[in-house]
Amino acid sequence: MSHGPSRRNFRMTNEISDLAPPPWLDAYWAALQRARAAGRLPHALLVAGPAGVGKRLLADLLARSLLCQRPGPDGRPCGHCQDCHLFRVGNHPDLVRVGPDPEGKSDEIRIGSIRDLVESEGLTPTRGAHKLISIDPADRMNPSAANALLKTLEEPAPGTLFCLITERAYLLPATVRSRCQRLALGLPDEAQALGWLAGRIKTGGDPVLLLRLAHGAPLRALGLADQALLARRDAAFAGFLAVGQGERDPVAEAQAWGDLGPRVSLDWLSGWVSDLLRLRTDGAAGYLSNPDKRGALVQLTGRLDLLAGHRYLQRILRARASQDSPLNPQLLHESLLIDWAHLASKAS
Ligand SMILES: [Zn+2]
Repeated sequence: MSHGPSRRNFRMTNEISDLAPPPWLDAYWAALQRARAAGRLPHALLVAGPAGVGKRLLADLLARSLLCQRPGPDGRPCGHCQDCHLFRVGNHPDLVRVGPDPEGKSDEIRIGSIRDLVESEGLTPTRGAHKLISIDPADRMNPSAANALLKTLEEPAPGTLFCLITERAYLLPATVRSRCQRLALGLPDEAQALGWLAGRIKTGGDPVLLLRLAHGAPLRALGLADQALLARRDAAFAGFLAVGQGERDPVAEAQAWGDLGPRVSLDWLSGWVSDLLRLRTDGAAGYLSNPDKRGALVQLTGRLDLLAGHRYLQRILRARASQDSPLNPQLLHESLLIDWAHLASKAS
């Protein structure tokens, strides 16, 4: 497989450096600060919720607030002290981030990472009163890692706060979940999300479209506000359309998707097919995930058998749910696009 210099890996990223929580997390923030003031902060938090609602943002802000030497009355970090500085440069000794080894073959968090943490002086604060340990994504802990963590959660060290961050809390062992206080973050309402996005999209993208594409998750919408990524989506959609119309070879199109990680491609594909199914049922469907593609999608609906379409969507969603397993993206794209070509050619 060739990787020319123009190739680029499209991923959804975002950089947020605010010192205040976004408005839809205010209530969670206030509750955490009340618990802190009362000396009732738990030893472990499970920060759960869909991608892009601010789980990491909240956990990081809490960490920063606990490490800061002069937090404000509402708990916000000052942004200026030595601890805030160490946090900002990613070098605070009392904030430990545990995740899958980026160099590793698997995406798992292995027992070694948890053991290192527990056995070294890892759990003793060095600068202040708190030690923060972020395990992210916590659902990647393999069973032995989760088991090693469990022992620590059963006998917490004073001042230590674990933040387990996950989109898929159900994958964590019940024994771990039950040792954590759960913060289940949900999607904000659209108006609140749009208000927050308004000042933050610098690239001139349409906030309403971006929020739809992000399934209502504001941080995700911000990550999508990238002209190159949106252009890439247009190109992939054009390919999807051409395959559906029998004008493009699905294998060739799969090859053209070589720069798309499955996280992105499956999200797009499931959105297009969901919209097709909505339009197949109701040609004037008010809500679409891809309102900008309505015209093109309407033209495809005649090619779609409803039942087969639903089965196809289930297939995409299953692939999306298991995307962390080491699938070959090329083969996955080929197989999904070949299915799509068949699906669209069979119906009348
Ligand atoms: Zn500070």
